Amino acid sequence: MAKQRMLKFVTVGKEMPEKRDAGQRAADFREIYGEFAAAKAAEQASRCSQCGVPYCQSHCPLHNNIPDWLRLTAEGRLEEAYRTSQHTNTLPEICGRICPQDRLCEGNCVIEQAGHGTVTIGAVEKYLTDTAWEEGWVEPIAPSHERAESVGIIGAGPGGLAAADMLRRAGVQVTVYDRYDRAGGLLTYGIPGFKLEKDIVLRRVGHLEEGGVSFVLECNVGEDIPFGEIRARHDAVLIATGVYKSRDLQGPGSGARGIVRAIDYLTASNRKNLGDAVPEYDNGELNAAGRRVVVIGGGDTAMDCVRTAIRQGAKSVKCLYRRDRANMPGSQREVQNAEEEGVIFEWLTAPRGFAGEPVSGVMVQKMRLGAPDASGRQRPEVIEGADYVEPADLVIKALGFEPEEIPALWNVPELEVTRWGTIKADFRSHETSLPGVFAVGDIVRGASLVVWAIRDGREAAQSILARFGADGLDIAAE
Ligand code: FAD
Ligand code: SF4
Ligand code: SF4
Repeated sequence: MAKQRMLKFVTVGKEMPEKRDAGQRAADFREIYGEFAAAKAAEQASRCSQCGVPYCQSHCPLHNNIPDWLRLTAEGRLEEAYRTSQHTNTLPEICGRICPQDRLCEGNCVIEQAGHGTVTIGAVEKYLTDTAWEEGWVEPIAPSHERAESVGIIGAGPGGLAAADMLRRAGVQVTVYDRYDRAGGLLTYGIPGFKLEKDIVLRRVGHLEEGGVSFVLECNVGEDIPFGEIRARHDAVLIATGVYKSRDLQGPGSGARGIVRAIDYLTASNRKNLGDAVPEYDNGELNAAGRRVVVIGGGDTAMDCVRTAIRQGAKSVKCLYRRDRANMPGSQREVQNAEEEGVIFEWLTAPRGFAGEPVSGVMVQKMRLGAPDASGRQRPEVIEGADYVEPADLVIKALGFEPEEIPALWNVPELEVTRWGTIKADFRSHETSLPGVFAVGDIVRGASLVVWAIRDGREAAQSILARFGADGLDIAAE
């Protein structure tokens, strides 16, 4: 019987929840996709062919049990579907919104491979969890007994929050320290509201707080409190501090006013939308309104900057990237969204320098793709004599992030790092060179994805629990 409800991919086409019209959505910071109605979610879930070897699942970093929750959704058993999905994912409503599904679960769905269009796994995952919150199925964190051990978590991004959730459920005393005034890390201050509305993040934080997790905010470890003191206070420590050092641009004029870092620009915008006082936004320094904006970079951060600039009322928004569309690191879905909203992409271009003080233009050199480099990617080469000046009065540098020098900043030279500055941690246990100190997320992987930080956080929590002799609890990640 159940099978009859499935395998509908031949007769039912792929549909995403309705996307708001580009003109309308470019005028605000609300999410661009609507919600499935129950019947539509069931219909879309019924397209799944219930593969014996589900490639969607093996390409989800959390190994979510996707075929099962799709089948339960198709059968209208939504609460069971939600329980199955949240068993392996701490933040399913967030992953459903912002995982690059085209590179993970959906990109590997056999129906997609067969040319029928993927099952819309992310949209169903979001729908299930949003429904669970509305219906009151998301249960409070209520450990069956309290444990004496305590864990200090440095960093309240997805890695830290995922670990906090699992540890607290097992009765551990958990304190999360963060230098910002709100928890969430890049979920709160990096990623714009049109991809992830902030009340979604803060609802999760509230859920953890209600479950007994303590947050110590505006506390910069290494400055406001020594790392050694955190170690002394807790039985184990987890470092989940992310990567925040922006890669910089060289060349004449690169220090001019009006050339800003993507993280500063996006944080100011998110703060403004959260209702904070943001002088750098109000005085125009980090505000694109009425400006000719040029964003440099081709990753997801660049995509978030161009789309933020459109919403702030920029006069024009251009994105310069040194490779072509097919070779950019950012998601194709986000490029399409940006183009619909009015962003112009200048592929195969790179800045040589900048004119003016404050900046009035970018000196652009044109590129072509040459022979592959050691990584196998075609290396961009300059086409001599083809330079031009692109007028600009706000230039946003979105060239990626590197780790801060934690051993020096925290005065722990014995904390081992890689040659890229990321913290060395055991692949499975996530323990660092310091006994009882674990590390997860971007500070270990380099700039990565939310879903990987969640996976790391869950795995590290398991290792810490095992160290406390608390393994065997029914909180398995897989
Ligand atoms: P973070 O989220 O960076 O959190 C680290 C936290 O540690 C921060 O709150 C910080 O304040 C705190 N901290 C740092 N140092 C200290 C200290 N010394 N003391 C106290 N606290 C400290 N990923 C996706 O999957 N999908 C997307 O669409 C996506 N979009 C992105 C857009 C942007 C603009 C950026 C920058 C990243 C994006 N990412 C996206 C990547 C994703 O946000 C990160 O991979 C993820 O947030 C990493 O989680 P984390 O917990 O390791 O670190
Ligand atoms: Fe897909 Fe991400 Fe959900 Fe995994 S967590 S099923 S990769 S959307
Ligand atoms: Fe269903 Fe696609 Fe996963 Fe197969 S790969 S189980 S069709 S979602």
